[in-house]
Amino acid sequence: MARRATETREHGTRKCYLRGPELGAGPGCRCGDCQRANRAAGIRRERAILRGQWQPFVDAGPVREHILALGRAGLSPQNVARLAGVRPTSVIHLLYGSNGSKPGRRVRPATAKAILAVQASERTLPGAGLVDSTGTHRRVQALVAIGWSQARIAAELGMARENFSATMRGARIRAQTARAVRELYDRLWNQLPPQGTPREAALARAARAQAAARGWPPPLAWDDDRLDRPDGRPARSWLRAAAKRQLEPGAGDKNRDRDNMQATEAEAG
Ligand SMILES: [Zn+2]
Repeated sequence: MARRATETREHGTRKCYLRGPELGAGPGCRCGDCQRANRAAGIRRERAILRGQWQPFVDAGPVREHILALGRAGLSPQNVARLAGVRPTSVIHLLYGSNGSKPGRRVRPATAKAILAVQASERTLPGAGLVDSTGTHRRVQALVAIGWSQARIAAELGMARENFSATMRGARIRAQTARAVRELYDRLWNQLPPQGTPREAALARAARAQAAARGWPPPLAWDDDRLDRPDGRPARSWLRAAAKRQLEPGAGDKNRDRDNMQATEAEAG
């Protein structure tokens, strides 16, 4: 049957039989194809009940929460679908609804089980896939706060300075970059940079001043499980101390900050 431009559901499906071919939940379609599809679905259900294999739908709420959590960790709905072995449209429907209908309230048990089994990890995040940059930025900023310059961090990552700058600006970055920064952070979070020479010491001072001027918390201000959450906040004790520093005489010493910034920029260039 020819599809009109406004039609979004395929004829010959039970969905179309129930809600019609057009956007939203209209009157069901009673064309031959849709009636046959509905009868076939009824027969499948009947047989499954007789075999003791009929599984009613389950609540989609926890599944949707899981998809949202995976999204916050950097897994797109498409990736979730791929890892769960379900169709992307199933995941999209659970999240946002589809064809003008609201997000699915119920889900097949098998689909629920497959999606709930997906975990966000370094392993499941695709290398070239884009992930949220929040945790990466916080890790770099925390390292700067204890004296690691951004140029040094870029060098440790083996990244060209321009690529690193782009990474630090973007809201989304490559998963492999996020991984590399995470590994670097895990290695350096409790180590100070070398400060043996006057130049090294000056660079470390400049980095710390830059972080102080921008309010970047150090590693100790962060719980690991908050670092990657967009709504995660540094420890209250650190926020209080930072607010206090702002009120102290000599805080916001513009000249000193500017000099330190220039030292950092000069090194970066
Ligand atoms: Zn139809």
